[in-house]
Amino acid sequence: MAQLILMPGKERSAFKRHPWLFAGSVGRLEGRARPGDTVEVLADNLRPLGRAAYSPKSQIRARFWTFDAEESVDDGFFKRRVAAAVARRQALPELRGQEGLRLIHAESDGLPGVIADQYGDTVVIQLTSAGADKWRKAIVAALVQATGCQRIYERSDSDVRGLEGLESATGWLLGEARDEPLSILENGVRLAVDVAGGHKTGFYLDQRDNRQLLGQLSAGKDVLNCFCYTGGFSLQALAGGANSVLSIDSSGPALVQARANLALNPQLPAERAQWQEADVFQALRDFRKEGKLFDVIVLDPPKFAPSASHADRAARAYKDINILGCRLLKPGGLLMTYSCSGGIGLELFQKIIAAAALDAGREARIVRRLAGSADHPVALNFSEGEYLKGLLVQVD
Ligand code: SAH
Repeated sequence: MAQLILMPGKERSAFKRHPWLFAGSVGRLEGRARPGDTVEVLADNLRPLGRAAYSPKSQIRARFWTFDAEESVDDGFFKRRVAAAVARRQALPELRGQEGLRLIHAESDGLPGVIADQYGDTVVIQLTSAGADKWRKAIVAALVQATGCQRIYERSDSDVRGLEGLESATGWLLGEARDEPLSILENGVRLAVDVAGGHKTGFYLDQRDNRQLLGQLSAGKDVLNCFCYTGGFSLQALAGGANSVLSIDSSGPALVQARANLALNPQLPAERAQWQEADVFQALRDFRKEGKLFDVIVLDPPKFAPSASHADRAARAYKDINILGCRLLKPGGLLMTYSCSGGIGLELFQKIIAAAALDAGREARIVRRLAGSADHPVALNFSEGEYLKGLLVQVD
């Protein structure tokens, strides 16, 4: 095994069990290692720190698999880690019986670069690092053992693979596509999931609890759901008794799926739903001119800031939609606003929303802080895992 020796003082993050080693922390590599190979990590005084996956093309030069310098990274390692991740979910009553469930949340489950989402009898994996890519077979075998699942699809087509020097890889690894579309039941609402063509692994499981919360807030309300994707929030609002739900997305295919999802739920009052294919920024300005007002507005935009270097421009975009959101609320209305940008921290996000309310000329208060669901845990040694943050704001 090759050895990766850190620069003096750069062992500190490993002591705190942070799984990433940036290029600037690495002193030298002794021996040969190809992308994804396991290397031994040593402090500059040659104290062993653990074992990591080497990624020569990435700024994140290595990701720790283990902080136990004696632990082998082999098929057995992946069996243990995957089984532990699955067991963690089984131990949480709120997650039991969910048909759509994140089984592995990468670094936060001790498996950097590995995502696995279960949709009914199908598991979709996404491998985003050179190390994860290398262990595909072991990860799949471990998932089969831990879940009994016989259908595994790979959706490794995320942009971040480029940073690791990896091409995209998609397709069935086990089992094959069926004629009938895949769907999940989420808190009483049926939602189709297009694992091959949808966003991410097909669906945004991280917002499950927040969609349920919207349902609880919606009775008798006029709801505006911005960036609705396939209508997850919209359908929960309808199920919760909303008076009307207007949903906007710029993606035609997402809206086709959203309408189809509504049709999958004949118990819901379809006549209360309206779908609009538009740019949210433009649509909100138009509503303002038309004098439209809503009781509840959801803003769940895409990642405006993939990394901290995009934070400034992204902050502007978040502020803009939130100013518009505040202005379009009736007095006492609720703004449910999110950022899933890793580059925008919780504190900054709150400042942006405060500035937006101020610019909108509205007094507002946080009534709830929102985050991802329990199957998207945030390891305490990996604050980067807290990418999804939200605020429920009551606007006077
Ligand atoms: N709330 C959704 C997930 C939203 S993902 C859920 O719970 O499932 C973000 C969505 O924003 C995507 O569907 C994307 O098509 C859409 N989008 C991105 N930029 C947009 C824009 N400028 N205007 C409208 N929709 C946009």
